[in-house]
Amino acid sequence: MSGEFRQYLGQRIKATGAITVAEYMKECLTNPMYGYYTRKNPIGRQGDFITSPEVCQIFGELLTLWCINEWAIAGAPTAFQIIELGPGSGILASDILRIASSFAQVRNHFTLHLVERSPALAGVQAQRLGIVNVERKSEDAVPYQHGVSQYGVPVSWYLRIQDIPKAPAFIVANEFFDALPIHKFQKTENGFREVMVDLNRENGQLMFALAPQSTPATRLIPSPCKHRDHLEFSLESAVILDDIADRVADCGGGALIIDYGHEGTKGDTFRGFREHRVVDALDSPGGTDLTADVDFSILKALLKPKAVTFGPILQYEFLANMAFERRFDALMRACRSDSERQRLESACDVLINPAKMGGQFFAFAVVGKSRSSLGQLSGFTAIKTEGQ
Ligand code: SAH
Repeated sequence: MSGEFRQYLGQRIKATGAITVAEYMKECLTNPMYGYYTRKNPIGRQGDFITSPEVCQIFGELLTLWCINEWAIAGAPTAFQIIELGPGSGILASDILRIASSFAQVRNHFTLHLVERSPALAGVQAQRLGIVNVERKSEDAVPYQHGVSQYGVPVSWYLRIQDIPKAPAFIVANEFFDALPIHKFQKTENGFREVMVDLNRENGQLMFALAPQSTPATRLIPSPCKHRDHLEFSLESAVILDDIADRVADCGGGALIIDYGHEGTKGDTFRGFREHRVVDALDSPGGTDLTADVDFSILKALLKPKAVTFGPILQYEFLANMAFERRFDALMRACRSDSERQRLESACDVLINPAKMGGQFFAFAVVGKSRSSLGQLSGFTAIKTEGQ
């Protein structure tokens, strides 16, 4: 499979020239036939990587509580949406449904909207959510999949956030933005040049090569980044965040983004992941997860005219601010054996230990400008960024 896909990429490059890293990433992750996310469910212990909601249920519970707190602060609008971007195996969405439905005041007032590019994963998610009569439509239908969860909550699937009808929305995205295609640039004597994926004509292998001239994406480099030596910029992230900023400004709500990242201090983070290890991004196209750290400094600069941002703060700080300890104690008390307690303790350690996921991931929030008058944002106590 990987050989066939590599051949296809090689032929494409031979025919039309080197492709951008963004095109390469998009093909490798979401090509309808060969794409990494299209073909399989890569998430979990048996897969290539494991995510926080897979590690322990408290993560999903606290993200849901963030949405519900913010909903209450917003005056508890009687109809609202919860949107999840890139739900993977559907585990976070199932925690969201379970917890949100346990609040009598919330249960009949919200709908769940999932943005998923991979039809295979949309199927896995519907199963995870216990949806019996899944209605699957053609790919260009909006939504392309629909059903009612075991809690009676309507759930709809979309290819793009822009397709979701506008309403007050609480949006969560865990390890989503790091999977979106990036353009990669390197400073040269002649200014920024885009890093391309080309074909080594001698051995037929894929290789990185600098574009000899300026490419269209070079013109989009945000001006605060002009002094850097390396830069990764995701146009697709910028478009999605622009939609989020308009959505929360026009209808209310907020977005909580959790991801790997930095604030402009790195620029060369594009990598592959296979079987829980970092591998060469050009090795085994379609068979390897491709990812790049989220550059929060660029996101903040893009959002500034329209929205207010909070963070990034480390995942463990965010979880502590959301009263992780209290939930942990309650679950420990409910454990029925020492081995259950040990399992819970070591899972929680992965989430909150600064040397583990607790210190590798960041929480970042986006709200409308009018949210500022309503006091502290849940989970980000006393930490504010510029623009407020
Ligand atoms: N949120 C999940 C893991 C996310 S993996 C968790 O916490 O466990 C990335 C997810 O985003 C996958 O579901 C993948 O299919 C989806 N995805 C990747 N690129 C996408 C795109 N461009 N548009 C929509 N979904 C995308």
